[in-house]
Amino acid sequence: MIKLENVSKVYTLEAGSFTALESCSIQMKKGEFVAIMGPSGSGKSTLLQLLGGLDLPTAGTLTIDGVQLNKLNEKGRTLFRREKVGFVFQNYQLLPMMTVAENIALALAANKTSKAETDAIVTRLLSEVNLEGKANSFPAQLSGGQQQRVAIARALAMKPRLILADEPTGNLDRKNGEDVLKLLSRLSREDHITIVMVTHDRHAAAAADRVIMLQDGEVVQSRHEGVELK
Ligand code: ADP
Repeated sequence: MIKLENVSKVYTLEAGSFTALESCSIQMKKGEFVAIMGPSGSGKSTLLQLLGGLDLPTAGTLTIDGVQLNKLNEKGRTLFRREKVGFVFQNYQLLPMMTVAENIALALAANKTSKAETDAIVTRLLSEVNLEGKANSFPAQLSGGQQQRVAIARALAMKPRLILADEPTGNLDRKNGEDVLKLLSRLSREDHITIVMVTHDRHAAAAADRVIMLQDGEVVQSRHEGVELK
């Protein structure tokens, strides 16, 4: 599903260049739930940006779901993101003046989905993330865990093959964090969505099938945790 071959990312700065990722080769299977860990500055965000088609590698090849991303121009990458990737952020990034239903519906707007179809999709997604009855609530009326589940419903709206989650439990207490991790785990297992999650939290990483450790832009470890949340 995901194949990085000798992928490097070098940022060119006035003061010189900086290598954020150095010849990384990584493979991920369809439906795999992978956690990315590593100290600050080790290249985690850079890796997520490359996987999301938000930036291009400086060298190497990056193939996702049969698409060779390093060959796409910006328009191709925008299309790739819309069709294949859902993004989830630490701070949820919901629009505060819009209801839960409107926040999710916004993700469908680019596709000119009819009102009736949009309503049906929103209802299905809210049930998928266990938030039936919250369609007309505003984000501020929900707990952090509920807001993150709305954000995941929004990420699911376009039926992505890949979800990229940047510290999705970073702002949540243990209980709410576990609900979000269980949901991500279920999406990978049952819907075969590949999940790549950056986290600093060992407990969160243990919910994943595999942990990839980065250090100074290199993969230093890739191991299976084998810990399952009930
Ligand atoms: P992490 O997410 O693990 O903290 P990052 O991928 O954000 O690491 O950053 C890796 C390194 O690349 C850092 O040293 C950072 O300063 C540098 N970096 C990230 N983005 C840029 C950029 N746009 N321009 C220059 N340097 C960058």
